[in-house]
Amino acid sequence: MPEPTTQVCAKHTRRPATYVCMTCGKALCLECVAKVGGLDFCSPDCARKSEQAMRNLAADEKHHRQQWRRAAMVNGLRILVLLIMLAVVAYWCYRLNPTPVDRWFASFWKDCKSLFAK
Ligand SMILES: [Zn+2]
Ligand SMILES: [Zn+2]
Repeated sequence: MPEPTTQVCAKHTRRPATYVCMTCGKALCLECVAKVGGLDFCSPDCARKSEQAMRNLAADEKHHRQQWRRAAMVNGLRILVLLIMLAVVAYWCYRLNPTPVDRWFASFWKDCKSLFAK
């Protein structure tokens, strides 16, 4: 019956591994573990790699946020242009047919209908 694979330290094969390197996944004993920023690593090299990966992740997120902000700005600009166009059309309709405000919609509707009737 094969023994269950108990994790042992990669360097000290007789010691049980109580830690695992966050970067390479190497099994580590209490003596081999290098704690950096509350995380377990096998070596300062792995700690550096992890730090680099974290920095890349943060940079990615920043980039993502910037893209999102740009998209929101473009959408806002589109809505603004649409509103200006609507205002221009409304003003143009009013100039063509200056009616009291309470009858404005009826006249606007008539204009629209005559536009489509052509
Ligand atoms: Zn490692
Ligand atoms: Zn060890």
